[in-house]
Amino acid sequence: MEYAKNILETIGDTPLVKLNKLTEALPCLVLAKYETFNPGNSTKDRMALKMIEDAEADGRLKPGGTIIEGTSGNTGMGLALAAIVKGYKCIFVISDKQSKEKMDILRAVGAEVVVCPTDVDPTDPRSYYSVSKRLGAETPNSWYVNQYDNPSNAKAHYESTGPEIWKQTDGKITHFVVGVGTGGTISGIGKYLKEQNPNIKIWGIDTYGSVFKKYHETGIFDENEIYPYVTEGIGEDILPENVDFSIIDGFTKVTDKDAAIYTQRLAKEEGMFLGNSAGAAVKGLLQLKAHFKKEDVVVVLFHDHGSRYVAKMFNDDWMKKMGYYD
Ligand code: PMP
Repeated sequence: MEYAKNILETIGDTPLVKLNKLTEALPCLVLAKYETFNPGNSTKDRMALKMIEDAEADGRLKPGGTIIEGTSGNTGMGLALAAIVKGYKCIFVISDKQSKEKMDILRAVGAEVVVCPTDVDPTDPRSYYSVSKRLGAETPNSWYVNQYDNPSNAKAHYESTGPEIWKQTDGKITHFVVGVGTGGTISGIGKYLKEQNPNIKIWGIDTYGSVFKKYHETGIFDENEIYPYVTEGIGEDILPENVDFSIIDGFTKVTDKDAAIYTQRLAKEEGMFLGNSAGAAVKGLLQLKAHFKKEDVVVVLFHDHGSRYVAKMFNDDWMKKMGYYD
């Protein structure tokens, strides 16, 4: 018999899938690292398990403990799955701009969810950064994960996703393109790939309303770049320690409207029912067309599943209300 001993053993070893119609305008082969195949339907399962294992190993997380994190949903799902198997409790702090589905899903896997306002300064005591830190300090036998600055986040991708992509492309990958939030995905995979071949180019997808692109280009943390945006999962108003700017060759910014439209197009034209950051990543790829040659092998990573966006990017009334169908 061949079976996994528990659900956590099914994390990783996701397929690489060729994009066909949406990338027709590009001269090169475009392959998607399809992270939806993880048990929690996102790449975050990998780093959630790694962060927990590392915290267990050095005593930050003790038996019966409570895991506390500020999470936009996917990291929460990964942590919750691991917590169930390993016997921990979870409290997640989430901003009110996140979809209701994400909150319901986290509650479905046994987590307590605390909702905080989005449009307040990160230093405001109501912000989800502040509330999660406070809960971490107040709850007995708790461990505050802090995926933004926790090095196990990027390490998970350095140890698993990066080597998988290298092996699956037979070392032929020339470019890696991915949305950037905490930075764990781009930094871990980017570091591994550049160690194998320093000529591989690493591109980050950013949003309008986020600080990454300007900071990478100028070294200036420009507060004027920060304003509310709709795209979920990518962009930040802080500089997380997990973003290793030194391995990133460039960023391109994608609008909320384009990200939403391309999320729909992935479902309708490729049969890929994916999250909002996948749409942003594909539009970003098209914006980078001038950088690609015929013989290039470009890998784009798709973070999560479309089911978490049915009330938004996959809802015509919402799309009309946002003015995205004009
Ligand atoms: N897309 C989605 C849907 C996400 O949840 C995240 C995580 N915030 C990202 C992209 C960005 O990944 P990372 O945090 O590793 O930069």
